[in-house]
Amino acid sequence: MGDCLFCRIVAKEIPATVVAEDDELLAFKDINPQAPIHLLIIPKRHIANTAASEAGDEALLGRLLRFGCRAAGEAGVAESGFRLVLNNGPDSGEAVPHLHLHVLGGRRLAWPPG
Ligand code: AMP
Ligand code: ZN
Repeated sequence: MGDCLFCRIVAKEIPATVVAEDDELLAFKDINPQAPIHLLIIPKRHIANTAASEAGDEALLGRLLRFGCRAAGEAGVAESGFRLVLNNGPDSGEAVPHLHLHVLGGRRLAWPPG
């Protein structure tokens, strides 16, 4: 997916502030943070969004969630709390069609979300 923004971040064609990485996943700071801690966790392999995941992606999705929790802990918000968000499709506000887990914390987050 040569024209995908997050694939280009994985390929290091576009800079990002990477905070954690393994062979399958990349965590970096959101460029337009909505909270003091706002990280994005993405699979290095292109998947459009959670809804586009397929049978066989279960382990990757599980690792994505655990990676997000670990990144939240390393960012210092394990005790204060944090939110994990996966947007899917137009009504969710999904803007980048490459699966990404938002990790939001460092302030009291409103519920329900807007
Ligand atoms: P979503 O609305 O769920 O698709 O979220 C996309 C997120 O990607 C937004 O929070 C953007 O601020 C973020 N974003 C867009 N471009 C970049 C970039 N180059 N580096 C880091 N985050 C980005
Ligand atoms: Zn992509």
